[in-house]
Amino acid sequence: MAFGQRKMYDVSHLGLKCASCGVAITELPFQPSSDRPVYCRECARKRNPRGGSSGRGPSRRY
Ligand SMILES: [Zn+2]
Repeated sequence: MAFGQRKMYDVSHLGLKCASCGVAITELPFQPSSDRPVYCRECARKRNPRGGSSGRGPSRRY
């Protein structure tokens, strides 16, 4: 099970920090742009939950 398909960009020379938790970011799965905040893996995952389960459930019975 190799997990090396995704290219990671080495950004350690940029001295980026996670905009949410402030941890140092050394690599990103995308090319960093200066006007966008970057997030570490964990925060990026929290901010991008897959699946679109919104708050409305079908259970609206009295
Ligand atoms: Zn973070």
